[in-house]
Amino acid sequence: MTEVLAPHALDARRVIVVAPHPDDEALGCGGLVWHLARLRRRVHVLFVTDGGASHLHSPTWPRARLAATREAEAEAALRELGLDAAARTFLRLPDADMPLPGSPGDAAALRGVTALMREVAPDLVLLPWRRDPHRDHRDAWSLVTRALSEAGMAPATLEYAIWLDEIGAADDHPRPGEMERVGFAIGDALPAKRRAVAAHRSQCGALIHDDPTAFSLTEATIERLTGPVEFYWRPL
Ligand SMILES: [Zn+2]
Repeated sequence: MTEVLAPHALDARRVIVVAPHPDDEALGCGGLVWHLARLRRRVHVLFVTDGGASHLHSPTWPRARLAATREAEAEAALRELGLDAAARTFLRLPDADMPLPGSPGDAAALRGVTALMREVAPDLVLLPWRRDPHRDHRDAWSLVTRALSEAGMAPATLEYAIWLDEIGAADDHPRPGEMERVGFAIGDALPAKRRAVAAHRSQCGALIHDDPTAFSLTEATIERLTGPVEFYWRPL
């Protein structure tokens, strides 16, 4: 059975939201983030990759232009969710090509995320699901989990799945005794969450029209992730 809680039942004061790509913060956690912002909890959003790989064949949106646009879209989404200007970090790792663990790029990213964890000292971290079928989501989970370990910190964690229900293999799902499912009744946050998702215009097919191979969020995905209850997995 899934427990459904009211957002104010969370007693976390300092929360880090980990978004592998700009749009995951809105799709995965937008409802809870909106409530936490209204409750005046400190929320810091960490965008891990630059999102620059969603339209690789667009002649008019080369990677750097797209990445800059995706940051602007993320800023607009955070405004919809009620977050102030200081509460975000763009790590700018390459979308779909995060550095391999042990590489110099990974070591630098690990240092940066470890420093952020020490600075914010979160008592709750919202992470992407550890076995999300999208590799960047798994790699982002791994990076932040290793950073917490480096920092010697063990805050509460909740994991949100973006692609698991659509394209996950059997092994990607939680195993018996591994996790419990928690829902948050996000209620009043829904309109703001939907606006935050729509602020990622490039991902909703609203901005770039010259790459037929491009990624685009479907209505079905958006509907699935913008219901009145936002679901997370909590480690047992
Ligand atoms: Zn993503």
